Amino acid sequence: MVEDTTELVFDIPDSVLDQIQQNIQDIIRNFDVPEENKEEVINQINYIYTRTKYLSITDELTGLSNRRCFDTTLEKEFLRAKRYKNKLTLVMFDIDFFKNVNDTYGHQCGDFILKQVANAALQTFRKTDTVFRFGGEEFAVILTETDINQAFIPLERFRKTIETLNSFYQNQEVNITVSIGAYQFEDWLESKEDFIEKTDEALYEAKNLGRNKTVLFNIRQ
Ligand code: GH3
Ligand code: MG
Ligand code: MG
Repeated sequence: MVEDTTELVFDIPDSVLDQIQQNIQDIIRNFDVPEENKEEVINQINYIYTRTKYLSITDELTGLSNRRCFDTTLEKEFLRAKRYKNKLTLVMFDIDFFKNVNDTYGHQCGDFILKQVANAALQTFRKTDTVFRFGGEEFAVILTETDINQAFIPLERFRKTIETLNSFYQNQEVNITVSIGAYQFEDWLESKEDFIEKTDEALYEAKNLGRNKTVLFNIRQ
């Protein structure tokens, strides 16, 4: 029977994995590999290791950080905000009526639009803010050192950027919009799952208000 590794409760830390990689390199240096091939073998191990590490945290289609990376990053930022009272805002956005894009222009066009949206997000947000593909046509952004009031301007800018993107796919103009929900970290939140749930409620509200909206919860004056 194949074990379901997603159920593992203990995650091997990156520092330990790096140590294992270093040990393998040392073994090869001291082992019976012809001297002239040693560097090549070590280079190959380094390449495979780095590539595997990259693939494990990257969404293949968009090149954004993936859901797995989102979970570990949010956990880290959540704990940091709890301990040090850092400002932290979580954002979720979802492409409106995306099923229509696939149905009207085809799945390939849908994939193309997902990449366009990912690129626009990467260009809009600061380098310190990570953009993730949460799943399907839903994305997340972790805004560090940012409260909900500070989040408003970049989020609105992003919403308008998408609204006016006017993408062309095989000479056809494809227009889309996104709905955005954001929630500021508060100390009463017990887990990152609570945080995600609250942010999701804001996104749901943006959809309810008619889509192509930004909804911020917890605005503190
Ligand atoms: P809403 O405004 O309520 O969000 O409507 P929606 O149509 O965007 O939502 P719905 O959840 O009904 O449909 C999401 C669609 O996203 C359906 C699915 O086929 C499409 N989708 C999810 N992942 C991908 C992908 O990787 N590529 C493409 N082309 N489509 C995808
Ligand atoms: Mg959608
Ligand atoms: Mg969706």
